[in-house]
Amino acid sequence: MLETTAAAKDAGALDISVQGIVQGVGFRPFVYRLAHALGLSGSIANNGDGVQIHISGPLKALDSFTSRLATDCPPVARITSISIQPGKQTGRDKAFNILPSENSEQPTTQIAPDIATCDDCLGELLNPADRRFLYPFTNCTNCGPRFTIVDRVPYDRPNTSMRSFTLCEACSREYNDPLDRRFHAQPNACPECGPQLSWHDKDGKKMETGNCIHAAAKALADGSIVAIKGLGGFHLAADASSGIAVDALRKRKRRKKKPLAIMVRDIKAATSFCKVSAEEKDLLTSTEHPIVLLEKKDNSTLAADLAPDIGPLGIMLPYTPVHHLLLADPACPAALVMTSGNLSNEPICTGNEEALHRLNAIADFFLLHNRDILTRVDDSVARVLAGKPRLMRRARGFSPVPISLKKQTSDILACGAEMKNSFCIIRNQEAYLSQHIGELTGSESFDFYTESIDHLQQVLKSTPERLACDLHPDYLSTRYAQRRDLPLKGVQHHHAHMGAVMAEHDLDSTCLGIVLDGTGYSQDGTVFGGEIYLADRTSFSRLGHLANIPMPGGDRAATEPWRMAVALLHRHFGKKWPNTIKLPAPLQTIEENQLKIILQMLDKSVNCPETSSCGRLFDGISSLLGLCNRSDYEGQAAMLLEHQASLALAEGRFAHQAEDNYPAEVLHKKDGLIIDSNAMTAKVIDDLNSEIPHPRIALRFHSWLIRSITKVALAMREKHNINQVILAGGCMQNKLLFEGLDHHLKYNKFITCSGEKVPVNDGGISLGQAYIGGN
Ligand code: ZN
Ligand code: ZN
Ligand code: FE
Repeated sequence: MLETTAAAKDAGALDISVQGIVQGVGFRPFVYRLAHALGLSGSIANNGDGVQIHISGPLKALDSFTSRLATDCPPVARITSISIQPGKQTGRDKAFNILPSENSEQPTTQIAPDIATCDDCLGELLNPADRRFLYPFTNCTNCGPRFTIVDRVPYDRPNTSMRSFTLCEACSREYNDPLDRRFHAQPNACPECGPQLSWHDKDGKKMETGNCIHAAAKALADGSIVAIKGLGGFHLAADASSGIAVDALRKRKRRKKKPLAIMVRDIKAATSFCKVSAEEKDLLTSTEHPIVLLEKKDNSTLAADLAPDIGPLGIMLPYTPVHHLLLADPACPAALVMTSGNLSNEPICTGNEEALHRLNAIADFFLLHNRDILTRVDDSVARVLAGKPRLMRRARGFSPVPISLKKQTSDILACGAEMKNSFCIIRNQEAYLSQHIGELTGSESFDFYTESIDHLQQVLKSTPERLACDLHPDYLSTRYAQRRDLPLKGVQHHHAHMGAVMAEHDLDSTCLGIVLDGTGYSQDGTVFGGEIYLADRTSFSRLGHLANIPMPGGDRAATEPWRMAVALLHRHFGKKWPNTIKLPAPLQTIEENQLKIILQMLDKSVNCPETSSCGRLFDGISSLLGLCNRSDYEGQAAMLLEHQASLALAEGRFAHQAEDNYPAEVLHKKDGLIIDSNAMTAKVIDDLNSEIPHPRIALRFHSWLIRSITKVALAMREKHNINQVILAGGCMQNKLLFEGLDHHLKYNKFITCSGEKVPVNDGGISLGQAYIGGN
């Protein structure tokens, strides 16, 4: 790619075009400095396709220039291609110049993601002698806001929300000096000319204070809830060590049990609250600064109900100067809850007026600023599983960095699923997975969805000619796709889950897929979700699945796990239950009348669609153990069960290696291999009757599932001679299950592959739809 042709060398001049993330990341100053250092002359300009360089001078220096272009480039730059052509020796170039940006009809350049404050900026922020001392909007070409402040390309100040701030003389000098760290840093600002903070009471009244940060820190220490305008939206902040403050936040936000993420000052503080491995430390301090799910330490001084009854806690480090200053303020609590500034199931707030209106009943104070957020982006969430960082939610820091596709794929818009929705645009072999949109169920989230599609299409200047969507006819994303009146391909949910992994890892051949998931539409009238597929990019066949269980009340069962527990018992005991069988204690709290109705529904098979869902099986077992009869958030019952199992697992062991008392039964039926959960249910009931401790039952269930699935995989390899296994679906976020499966399959000489930069949950589905639909 980087080889200079002989002809070009002879010419003593080269025309070089570079594509990728090369705007707004200090690429032009880097090229400028490189040209100067090598004594070369010419020019560089941004255009819609990236940057265009004309360079001339001695042949040896040109050689050195082209080879260092890729190897020495700035940390945030991402080069996807470089083309080098012989250039004309005009004789005019005496120096090296940076020319104004050109506009382009069909830009192929990429917008950088938002980047956490760099060490240089942090140094200035905390240096009393610096003109940016304590200035909360300090940034440079290596850090700061990008995607959240831009509305079109090229990435130049007039195309960002910084257009309303005029650079002062000092900032302007930096901006125009190619040797300065802030050369063409579009959000460049200082206390003289840039955005400012303001401090408001809950009714929006501006309150005079000499130091907004200190006022916020004091309010937080007093137990107040503060709405803080951030990079991609608002956070609601509270003292994470105060049970009272956390409780108030939960009550006001109507978020009973769902885990809350926290922000702490630095890595040292993180390790005082949680166990942090080397990989987790790298992830916490990466340029993206995601929320990292870490195992809590027992002796932590944090409020007890941050992540009630589950193992991991989400922690992130400060990623904007506002966060750094706040957590460095002597009055500020050591750990802050920093949860999305929204009402349950609504998108995160971005505008000041909007936040004052919508968060008025939650926040006691507002820490606002006057730099507009042009697109919403939540915090990303990642977890290290089987030794690799894996995104559970892909948003800030990762959007809109594309995933390069090696296989030919048409330009397409894929609309995603319903829960944890994201969409995906493929343009020129690059897959732009949108930021996390969230549950696509209400009108607010649907507006956010359509706005984000419009915004990304505008930023990419992309007009897709075809679409892909889920097969579920009632998803808002499916309806949106149908309304756009373009050629549309429906992609089966779990095939799309596999497709996402194929696209990310460039898997081309036929693969075995183990997709353990919540709900996925199929055309045979049952609900899929515990699937063993044989698939490539074009098609799939269902080789096996978890045994079907009736789902009393359909979708209602997903939020009321006790219904699944009753379904499991009913399947096991038949109609004689519950007259002759003592109800497990946890189910005795269910109202008799409700129970009766569900039993009648099961007896008559009315409104009880059959499901092979792995999530629903987890729900049923979780409820039988009394962990969760009604769930407060998606995946809660399964997370509680995972945590119980982890309590029984000795350090350094895998789930399938312990407590292997439940038989891994696989039935050979005409429609494939069925993992029979009936015998397992019987064992669970026996164990409950024998008062086996619940953590051990939970571990036995995990072990059973891992061994059963491996058994199916081994049978399928025998028959189809395929060794490559894809692990996908929401249940693969379960550490015990994922690591146990991964280990056991590898032990049996399978090659396993799963999501890393792309979530294995429904947040990654749109990439799979696009990859399959664009084939
Ligand atoms: Zn910086
Ligand atoms: Zn200034
Ligand atoms: Fe799914």
